[in-house]
Amino acid sequence: MEETRQEMEEVLERSQRVVEETTQEVVQSRQTLQQHQQNLQQKDQTIQQKDQTIQQKDRIIQQERQQSEQKDRLLQQERQRVRELEQNPEGEFQRRLREMEEEIRRLSARSQRAMCKICLVEEVEVLFNPCNHTVSCQECAQSLTDDNLPPSQRKCPMCREDIQGTVRMFFA
Ligand SMILES: [Zn+2]
Ligand SMILES: [Zn+2]
Repeated sequence: MEETRQEMEEVLERSQRVVEETTQEVVQSRQTLQQHQQNLQQKDQTIQQKDQTIQQKDRIIQQERQQSEQKDRLLQQERQRVRELEQNPEGEFQRRLREMEEEIRRLSARSQRAMCKICLVEEVEVLFNPCNHTVSCQECAQSLTDDNLPPSQRKCPMCREDIQGTVRMFFA
């Protein structure tokens, strides 16, 4: 009886050891599995990052393509303009010449209107009575109507009519 009990205790002890060992193995293999999973997750992340990088590069390439298309369009427009100019160079040249002549006419008309016809330096600012010519600056008008001159010599330089009075003009 005592022997049987001893045997049974031994058997129990062995089987307990087996259970402990197995438990340890299970724990170890679980750890290994967890590490594998972590490794897989990391690889997934790396793949995702690479995907993002590729997408970004794709976007940049698209933008560059759009920019170069725009440049192409501009270049084509410019080329078209040059072609038109080559086909009709005189038209363009004459148009510019006309513009320049127009500008010169405008400028000279304005300066002639404002300049004293006698000294050609000062601006016109006096109106003669009664002929109403406004061709003289203040100084030239004074010398034309000087008190020392006999009244018969005080004449408008434009129409030779007697100057009986002057009016100072103020142009805005
Ligand atoms: Zn003058
Ligand atoms: Zn006059």
